[in-house]
Amino acid sequence: NLSDKLDKAFHILKGHGKITEVNVADTLKEVRRALLDADVNFKIAKDFTTRVKEKAIGADVLTTLQPSQLMVKIVKDELTELMGGDAVGVNLSGNPSVILMSGLQGSGKTTFSGKLANFLTTKKNKKVLLVACDIYRPAAINQLHVVGEQIGVEVYSEPENKNAVEIAQNAIKHAKANGFNVVIVDTAGRLAIDEEMMTEIANVHKAIQPQETLFVVDAMTGQDAVNTAKAFNDRLDFDGVILTKLDGDTRGGAAITIKSVVNKPIKFIGTGEKMEAIDVFYPDRMADRILGMGDVVSLVERAQEQYDEEEARKLQKKIAKNEFGFDDFLSQIQQVKKMGNMKDLVGMIPGASKALKDVEIEDDAFKHIEAIIFSMTPSERKSPALIDPKRKARIAKGSGTSIQQINQLLKQFDQMSKMMKMMQGSGGKNLMRMMGG
Ligand code: GDP
Ligand code: MG
Repeated sequence: NLSDKLDKAFHILKGHGKITEVNVADTLKEVRRALLDADVNFKIAKDFTTRVKEKAIGADVLTTLQPSQLMVKIVKDELTELMGGDAVGVNLSGNPSVILMSGLQGSGKTTFSGKLANFLTTKKNKKVLLVACDIYRPAAINQLHVVGEQIGVEVYSEPENKNAVEIAQNAIKHAKANGFNVVIVDTAGRLAIDEEMMTEIANVHKAIQPQETLFVVDAMTGQDAVNTAKAFNDRLDFDGVILTKLDGDTRGGAAITIKSVVNKPIKFIGTGEKMEAIDVFYPDRMADRILGMGDVVSLVERAQEQYDEEEARKLQKKIAKNEFGFDDFLSQIQQVKKMGNMKDLVGMIPGASKALKDVEIEDDAFKHIEAIIFSMTPSERKSPALIDPKRKARIAKGSGTSIQQINQLLKQFDQMSKMMKMMQGSGGKNLMRMMGG
């Protein structure tokens, strides 16, 4: 599925110290392919990856982050933006507020009418009237009555009347006379775009002037959903989109594309056949779901908050001048510690908490290292070469550690200094990653 594919795309970046033109190109090729496989329109997928690329190139890879994690964040932010930014509700300002449903047959209009009626009744304390304007199939009127009974909402219908405009107008009169706050008008659909259907719904729309016209679309229809959305929007200039059947094995492409094609927000999603299976659409949650990346994003955000640009620049200079010592090492450790304890940090990495279930993670994994450094004199911290066996014994005693632990740290520090010297270009930013790895 899409999230597996994106996962693979981000893996391409693993092990690279910095997001560069070269490694980002491979990743974005995979991202684009994943989007296309999810039925996202070609041009939208292309524009999307272009924008991500612009943001990614030159973005600093933070101290403790893999470039792949930073890419996930950039892709997620961009996806969220593409799907509409913030959540948008329905307009309930009318008296009564009239909501018109539109969409193809089988998209889920009747089911969603019931769900929305139930939602507004139970969550928003509204008195809702459902109206059966699908006049072509007697079964359709029955279906709405069954739904209404299930949720305890009145259904208005005129089985003998073959004029949808009249039925809708009569229903609104009935609602006004009987103190209903909201009128939800369920209409007929066709299996494909059809002029007769379009004319009919356009006439109903014109006659009742709804506060809210909603376009209902089956999330599983992929590319077609976009064309249908466009056709309905050209005629009705609808206010929002309802994405149904997101519970199934959906490809999610429709959610990504519709908003950018018709520039209308997705307002609710349907996640099952039951009347309770309705959710407000939150673009950021949908992006999370598409990416399937768990809390990586919040990990990235925390790292960004804590990362000190100024410190990093100083560090880079020191490395270049061969002046990197244990004091700098200590301040790096403190940077990481500001982000939270190791257990929490590890828990945020998808899969990691499961994989490390049986591994004991020290709450403060740096405790010994810090103790050792604290027991060094300033000159020892600056020039670790000074630390001879006699000094080692003193430091071990002072820090409550062993000579072996001191040797181990000195060895690590030495290897690290060499490596840092070698990869001066990306500088101290990779320091903690090397320590962790
Ligand atoms: P309409 O022709 O647009 O009125 O569509 P219906 O409301 O009759 O729905 C068509 C079919 O899709 C029915 O079998 C519904 O139970 C089903 N359906 C509607 N919404 C959802 C949903 O969110 N999830 C699932 N799994 N099925 C849905
Ligand atoms: Mg129907």
